[in-house]
Amino acid sequence: MTGPMRIAMISEHASPLAVVGGVDAGGQNVHVAALAAGLARRGHDVTVYTRRDTTALPDRVETADGYAVEHVLAGPPAEVPKDELLPHIPDLGRGVADRIVDERPDVVHAHFWMSGLAALLATRGTGVPVVQTFHALGTVKRRHQGTSDTSPPQRLRIERAVAHDADRIVATCSDEVAELVRMGARRTSISVVPCGVDVEHFTPTGPRLELPTTGRRHRLLVVGRLVARKGVDDVIRAMARLRDTELVVAGGPPAAEMDIDPEAVRLREVAARAGVLDRVVFLGQVTRDRMPALMRSVDALVTVPWYEPFGIVPLEAMACGLPVVASAVGGLVDTVVDGTTGLLVPPRNPEALAETLRRLLADPVRREAFGFAGVDRARARYAWDRVALDTESVYASLVAPSAAVPPAEVAADDLDELDDGPTIDLTTR
Ligand code: UDP
Repeated sequence: MTGPMRIAMISEHASPLAVVGGVDAGGQNVHVAALAAGLARRGHDVTVYTRRDTTALPDRVETADGYAVEHVLAGPPAEVPKDELLPHIPDLGRGVADRIVDERPDVVHAHFWMSGLAALLATRGTGVPVVQTFHALGTVKRRHQGTSDTSPPQRLRIERAVAHDADRIVATCSDEVAELVRMGARRTSISVVPCGVDVEHFTPTGPRLELPTTGRRHRLLVVGRLVARKGVDDVIRAMARLRDTELVVAGGPPAAEMDIDPEAVRLREVAARAGVLDRVVFLGQVTRDRMPALMRSVDALVTVPWYEPFGIVPLEAMACGLPVVASAVGGLVDTVVDGTTGLLVPPRNPEALAETLRRLLADPVRREAFGFAGVDRARARYAWDRVALDTESVYASLVAPSAAVPPAEVAADDLDELDDGPTIDLTTR
């Protein structure tokens, strides 16, 4: 192991302290929390900087997992949708710069494109190397969501500048590497380290969750934020072709608010039109501590997003011994081994999905074999301790004396423009 490093992470919208499952709180929150904890376990001094989105929390929180979270005032101390955060990023960069001036970190690791921008602003002229994990790419989002993409129009341009100026990019899967290279990133500046799964928490043995049952023979599970691109409506449509099967949908707002959540209301309508509403159970947000028990109480996990930068949910399901049926997109192609830990299907194709699920549900031996293989794969390749070790190696290659790190060049006009304070022009060029 290298000597202890001082590591600053920036995660602008995704606090490791947040409750996950809502619209803007998902895999990134889980990733940052687990990676910070894994690095702290390895003896490093880790602080995560995140935007203050409430007045209720102190400036600095020491977590029980050995790392600290600092809340930086940048914009109103209230919830702001992530697509509206860009104007506040220069303040976040300045806030982080102020806090690291006395205790210079060895490396700054930014999560998501806006954090990358904040990291480059915060480290300008300091020589502190910046590592960037995008979690999701604007180019991919734009390709799939077209005009319904609500990201700020500057995203693609700034993302390219961040990819260019960061000292190292950590991609989470091979599909992302191809996308980054297509965006103009140098292949030699990219390392691949996947997201991980908490294999102590997500285990095949343990309690099962008591669920409101509809009395069907088979039970399928979908877990995720209720956003259109997760493809939950395709699973609901597939249900029309599956007999004696119920579907449990976990995610979205807390159960009490499901009646007013637009996406939950839309999905209920899809279920009603498909004639399967009596076989679909919407649980709303499920807390992390109950997730393994929920996963153990079903026959298979289904995840068929249109696209997926990584996808932690299928890994969690594999670690619980579940067969996974996933769309063959993004990170899912790396994690789910077709015919070994589950089955890959084309995205946005309820007919193909129904046929695959029908055959899998009819074959308990195959389901069990997939489950065993999934546990092995999750433990061998995706335990957070391994992910933390691989991430540490990336940091070490940048901070080693021989690496001769030049100061981070924030040459792009884009970044200067953003650093000009409240009068900045954030319109598209
Ligand atoms: N999650 C949760 N409760 C919910 C819905 C999701 O704890 O009700 C967790 C889920 O277990 C996983 C994360 O949120 O750890 C979602 O991560 P993923 O990478 O699959 O999707 P993302 O939300 O990042 O698109």
